[in-house]
Amino acid sequence: MPNQQTAQLLDGKSCANSCREELKIKIDEVRKRGFRAPGLAVVLIGDNPASQVYVKNKVAACKKAGIESYLHQFPKDATEAQVLNAIEELNDSDEVDGILVQLPLPGHLPTDKILHAVRPDKDVDGLHPYNLGLLMAGKPGLRPCTPQGVMVLLERYNIPLAGANAVVIGRSNLVGKPVALMLQEQNATVTMCHSKSKNLEAITRAADILVVAAGRECMVKGSWVKPGAVVVDVGINRRVAASGEFELVGDVDFQEVVQVASLVTPVPGGVGPMTVAMLLSNTFLAYQEHILPKG
Ligand code: NAD
Repeated sequence: MPNQQTAQLLDGKSCANSCREELKIKIDEVRKRGFRAPGLAVVLIGDNPASQVYVKNKVAACKKAGIESYLHQFPKDATEAQVLNAIEELNDSDEVDGILVQLPLPGHLPTDKILHAVRPDKDVDGLHPYNLGLLMAGKPGLRPCTPQGVMVLLERYNIPLAGANAVVIGRSNLVGKPVALMLQEQNATVTMCHSKSKNLEAITRAADILVVAAGRECMVKGSWVKPGAVVVDVGINRRVAASGEFELVGDVDFQEVVQVASLVTPVPGGVGPMTVAMLLSNTFLAYQEHILPKG
C-alpha cells in the first residue's frame, strides 16, 4: 500500500511573509510620523558560503521591510581588535538599532567575547547574557530569533501549549535552551534532551510537541513520534543529493514523520524563514526603544 501523508505543513515561509508584511505596515506608520528608518548592522567575517547566503537574505529582507541595513565585511583573518572596534562604533551609532554578528566566526576569534561586546539594547540576536537573563527571568526583552520564530509559528497555528507535553532535542544557547524556556513560559511541561540522553525514542514518543535542534540529519524517525504530534524541525543540514547538487535537510526524517504527525515543518521553508522574520521584528523593537518617546 502506498504511504499516505497525514500531517499538514507548518508553513514557516508563508507565516514569515505575513509577519514581515505586518512589520512593514508598522514601520511605514512610524516613518509617516517623521522618524528615521530603523537600522540593522550586519557583521560578516570570513567567506563561509552558507553565512554569505544567510546575510544576503537578511539584507534583502531588511530592504523589503523598510529597514536600512549596513553590511560590515571582514576577511577571514580579521583580528579580534578589528572586530571589537567595529562593534564599538556600531554600538555608538545613532542610526544603528540592531547589530547582528553572523555566526559561525572563524576559529581564531572568541565568539562569546564578540557577542557580549554588542550593547544589549542593540542585541537583535538576543544572545547577550543580559537578554538571555531577561528570558530566564520571564521578562520581556530581545529574544533569540530562532526560538522566538518557533514560538510565533506555534502561536499562529493556534497550537495549544498549556499543559502540553513538549520535548526539545538539543540544549544549545542558540536554540534548545531558550526554546525550552519559552515553551515553559507558555505553560507546557517541557523535557529537554541532548546527546547524553538515554531512551530518546521513548521520551519523544510521549511528546505532544516535539522541537528538534540537534544538527543530525534525519535523526528523528516516524517511530519516534506520537501519532498526531506537532513536530518542529529546526535542523539545517547540507548534503549532496542523488542529482549531485547540494540540498538542505532537517533533523527530522520528513518522509516518515509526515505520516505520523498532525503538523510538521518542512526544511527548507519551516523555521528558517521565521528566524529572519524575528530578526526584523527584534530590530523594530530595538528601534522603538531608541526613537519613540517613553510613556
Ligand atoms: P549545536 O551543535 O550547538 O547543539 C546541538 C545540540 O543537540 C546539543 O545540545 C547536543 O547535545 C544535541 N545533540 C546532538 N546530537 C544529538 C543526538 N544524537 N541526540 C540528542 N541530542 C543531540 O547546534 P545548534 O546551534 O543548536 O543548531 C542545531 C541545528 O539547528 C543545526 O542543524 C543548525 O544548523 C540548525 N539551526 C537552524 C536555524 C534556523 O534558522 N532554522 C537556526 C539555528 C540553528
